[in-house]
Amino acid sequence: MIKTKKLKRSDKLGLLEAFLFLDFVKGLSITMRNLLRKPITTQYPKEKITPPKRFRGKHGHFVYDGEEPPSLKAIQGFMSFEKAKSRCVACYMCQTACPMPTLFRIEAVQMPDGTKKVVRFDMNLLNCLFCGLCVDACPVECLTMSDIHEMSVYRRSDAVLNMDEMEYIGATNAKAVRDLPDRIWRDDKERETLWGKIKWNF
Ligand code: SF4
Ligand code: SF4
Repeated sequence: MIKTKKLKRSDKLGLLEAFLFLDFVKGLSITMRNLLRKPITTQYPKEKITPPKRFRGKHGHFVYDGEEPPSLKAIQGFMSFEKAKSRCVACYMCQTACPMPTLFRIEAVQMPDGTKKVVRFDMNLLNCLFCGLCVDACPVECLTMSDIHEMSVYRRSDAVLNMDEMEYIGATNAKAVRDLPDRIWRDDKERETLWGKIKWNF
C-alpha cells in the first residue's frame, strides 16, 4: 500500500526531500518493482489463451439432436425440424431483444403439411455488440455464443453469419463450452501462468 500525504500550495520540501530527491526515488522504486514483475499480458497472436466459459464470441445455433428443452418439445409438432439442423422456431425474439435488430435476416416458410420451417437465419456481425441479449431472449435455447473471437475478414459480406455456419458452431464449439462445469476459467494452468494461484469461493 502506497502512503500519500496531502500537500498545500504553500508547503515546501523538507531538507532531506530537497537534497536526496526522496519523492523521485519513491516513484522510481515503484517503476523498478513493476519492471521486474511478470507481465500479465500475452504475446497475441503467438500466444493465445483459452477464453473464459462465459465469453461472448461468434454466435451459433444449437441443433435438433434429442436434447431439446421442454419449451421446444411443447411446440415441436408445429415445426419441420431435421436431425442435426437448427432448432430455431423463427419466433423473432432474438431480433426483438437486439439493440441492432436490422442485423438479423430471419425467414420461415409454411410446409405443405402446415408446419413451419426456418429457411434463412443470417446475422451481420459487423453491427453486433456481442451483448448476448439475443441469446437470453431465445425461448428454445437455440441461439448461443461460442468462444470464437478471431473474426477478421477481408470482405464485409464475409462477416455475415449464415445458418449453416451457426449450426456447425452450435454443434461443435458452443456445445463443448456449454457442457463444461459452470465456472469462470476453464483452464487453470493457463490462468495460473498469467495471474498465479487464485482461491475459488465455490
Ligand atoms: S449479441 Fe447483442 S447486438 Fe449482437 S445480435 Fe445479439 S443482441 Fe444483437
Ligand atoms: S429467439 Fe431463438 S428460436 Fe426465436 S428466432 Fe431467435 S434463434 Fe430462433
